[in-house]
Parts: sequence; C-alpha cells; structure tokens
Amino acid sequence: RAKESGRGCYRRFEPEMERRLRVRQSLEADLRGALGRGEFELHYQPIVSLTTPPEVCFEALLRWRRPGRDLVPPGSFISVLEETGLIAPVGAWALRTACADAAGWPASVRVAVNVSPAQFRSGTLVAEVEAALAESRLPAARLDLEITEAAILTDDAAILATLHRLRASGIRVALDDFGTGYSSLSYLRHFPLDKLKIDRSFVVGLDSSHASASIVRAIVTLARSLGLVSIAEGVETPEQLHHLRRLGCDEIQGHLFAAPRPNEEVPAMLRRIHEYTLLETWIHLSRP
Ligand code: C2E
Ligand code: MG
Ligand code: MG
Ligand code: MG
Repeated sequence: RAKESGRGCYRRFEPEMERRLRVRQSLEADLRGALGRGEFELHYQPIVSLTTPPEVCFEALLRWRRPGRDLVPPGSFISVLEETGLIAPVGAWALRTACADAAGWPASVRVAVNVSPAQFRSGTLVAEVEAALAESRLPAARLDLEITEAAILTDDAAILATLHRLRASGIRVALDDFGTGYSSLSYLRHFPLDKLKIDRSFVVGLDSSHASASIVRAIVTLARSLGLVSIAEGVETPEQLHHLRRLGCDEIQGHLFAAPRPNEEVPAMLRRIHEYTLLETWIHLSRP
C-alpha cells in the first residue's frame, strides 16, 4: 500500500512512527518504576471442574494501575516487561503475591500463576517458587504454574530438570494457549506436564465452526489419552459449556462463570460458582 500511494507517503507516516516510538518510550519509562510504586495488581479468574462438587482454581492475572489511566491489562505491556528484563522481578512478585492471597482461601481452592518463558528458563524459578511457598505457607499441592510452548521450545536437560523438580514438590504444570504455538507435539512425549489449556480462539468458534469443534475434540482426546487434564479458556455461553461437557473437557474458565476480579471478591465468586453449578446439575439431571 505504501508503494502504491507513491513517494509522498513516507513523509506522511513519519509522524505516526515518531508518535509510536514516544508512546513506547513513555510506557517503558513508566513500567520501570511501576513495581516499586506498587502499581501492579493481581486479579483472579475461576477455573471450574465439570464434576460434582466442582473443584475450583483461580488463575492470577496481572493488571497495571497506571496513574491517570484505566486499569491496564497485560496484553499491552507483558512484551515490554519481557524485552526489558523487568519480567524477572515482576514475575517473582506475582508468584509471592498469588501464593500469599491463596493461603487465605478455603483449603480446597488452588491458584494458577502464569510464568513467562524467560522466567521459566532463568534457572532461578525453582528457588523463587520455594521462597513464595515458604513465605505464604501455601502447600505446593495448591499451586499450578502455567507455561507456554515457548518456555519448552528447546528440548534441553535444564528444562526437563526444572519441570521434574517443580512436579516432585507437588506443583502441577499447565501448558497454556495450547494449539497456538509451534506445536511439533513431540515435546508432549519428553516433558512431564499435568494440564493442557485449550486456547480461547478455538473455544470462540465451538458452536459455529466445524473446524474449531474438531480441534477442541482432538485436544480433549489427546489430553485424555496422555493422562492430562483438559481446560477450556474463554467460555462465555451456556452453549459452549454444554458442548465442552459433551466433548469430555475436564475444566472450564471464562466470563460465563466470572471475569478476573480482585482478591477481595474471591469469596463472592466461590458462592456464585456453587450456586451456578447446583443449577447446572439440576438442569443436567432434569434432562430426559
Ligand atoms: P492467558 O494466561 O491465556 O489468560 C487468559 C486470558 O483470557 C486473560 O486475559 C483473561 O482475562 C482472558 N479471558 C478469560 N476468559 C475470557 C472470556 O470468557 N472472554 C474473553 N474475551 N477473554 C477471557 P488477560 O488477563 O488480559 O491476560 C492476557 C495474557 O497475559 C495471559 O493470557 C497471559 O499470557 C499473560 N499474563 C497475565 N498475567 C501474567 C503474569 O502474571 N505473568 C506472565 N508472565 N504473563 C501473564
Ligand atoms: Mg494463563
Ligand atoms: Mg491461556
Ligand atoms: Mg490465552
């Protein structure tokens, strides 16, 4: 398009490029001090098992209370944290905060924390996790870590050792955004994992697209045959829930139950899930 509109166009786009550069620089400058100023928060979104009674886990999702702005979701700044190395202190803070918050929940409720590829490969993750658990006194069996395929892209001994050490202490590891990465699938043979999280992009098309439904069914079947728990993220409608239940998906996460909310609202979310699942059970039982 730039070519078509001729030579003048570069000059027209230059201010836009400068503007973007300035936006990026001020974002980076503000992010550098954000942790020290206490501007990060964790919000929690329930993941609910399709069993009676349901088991509940809350995923910790990072938010930035940037002064003078609306609450900023991580999509616009996680990549900057990664590029600048700030993800290391912020990630360690998220681990400690999530474990401390979860230690105040009912003992049957778990917490899941996202771990960035750099953090996973840093060599200090196991020590950070141990410190967070010791400080909060949260049992390791109540902690899940969510990693992405990028974290385990190369098949080296250090990654395998990290996974073994985490799982030996009772922590469970989930592979996030499954199906969107470089999936050669061969890593599923080498790496010890506990859960596969089906990416929201497949769940969105569940009821309208035959291809999406086929992919979700394939992932659920793959998870089951590998002995892994399947989790669908981004579930928004009762129709999607019914479809996933029919396909045999184990756990559900999405706005249908609740959007991510601050720790203070965890008790209210637990009450709502309980009511909702009672209703669901009733609908299920009342079917001919
Ligand atoms: P994710 O781990 O795949 O988290 C799920 C994302 O889907 C969250 O976005 C959540 O708010 C959103 N979501 C859940 N249910 C629904 C739904 O029903 N509809 C819609 N439209 N969206 C839904 P969020 O909070 O913006 O986080 C985006 C990504 O940022 C996360 O994706 C994760 O990769 C990353 N992230 C979040 N917190 C952390 C963190 O503490 N550390 C690291 N390294 N990454 C994080
Ligand atoms: Mg996640
Ligand atoms: Mg995910
Ligand atoms: Mg996702």
